[in-house]
Amino acid sequence: MRLLLLGGTSEARELAALLVEAGVDVTTSLAGRVARPRLPVGAVRIGGFGGVAGLRAALADYDAVVDATHPFALGMTANAAAACTDVPLLRLERPGWDPDPAWRYADTHEEAARRAAELGARPFLTVGRQELARFVPELGRSAVLARVVDVPDIDLPDPWRLVTSRGPYHLDGERELMREHRCDALVTKDSGGTYTWPKMEAARELGVPVVVVRRPPGPPGVPTVHDVAAAFDWVVALG
Ligand code: NAP
Repeated sequence: MRLLLLGGTSEARELAALLVEAGVDVTTSLAGRVARPRLPVGAVRIGGFGGVAGLRAALADYDAVVDATHPFALGMTANAAAACTDVPLLRLERPGWDPDPAWRYADTHEEAARRAAELGARPFLTVGRQELARFVPELGRSAVLARVVDVPDIDLPDPWRLVTSRGPYHLDGERELMREHRCDALVTKDSGGTYTWPKMEAARELGVPVVVVRRPPGPPGVPTVHDVAAAFDWVVALG
């Protein structure tokens, strides 16, 4: 059993560790976006495949695929669904956060930017480096605090302040950062999981309104599980 594990998440690393221990030949694929990725155990390949055609060609070396990419990694998930016509594919997607009635939801990052602008002028953006450009038209003059893993490749507006760091985060640090910035809105994707949850607790404690960007729908027709144990069972059952 040679498994291609589309990764870039903590769940993918956990699954790789379990499968390697169980003797499965796992290759984790990373996009190569972050400068110093956290590497899983087992084999690793880094970089895009070259669209659906490239992925389809790469699948000649594998017996099955688990797509454990981030819930917002739309392109990779769509490509996997399109390419895996002759190879079993499972989607492992961590659950979103249980909705809090106090949160404001947005369907797009642009809508989230508008909602943040309505709330004030000192938003804290935790949406990832690649999405920041979508906030510039609405929030270019605001005192944005933007937190990313790696420095974005666009010029940020002058009033913006950039913080580079990587989770998991802790409540004390999140509270301190939001208080120090005097932030009046927190903008986040519905990433789910625990790594980035403390900012939500800090926002609630400080009374900072939260704008949550809704998840895109999952890949239609692809069997999907929501935890690592279920993905492990699926792979093992393939034999
Ligand atoms: P994306 O927009 O869905 O993917 C764009 C392209 O990047 C894909 O078509 C593929 O290129 C390449 N790619 C993405 N994930 C890949 C992987 N695991 N292995 C090989 N190539 C990959 O992806 P993204 O949102 O930029 O996310 C990139 C990576 O970061 C993913 O591994 C994801 O799990 C992780 N991540 C994303 C987020 C997020 O908020 N989006 C957050 C945390 C971690 P080709 O078409 O050339 O194959």
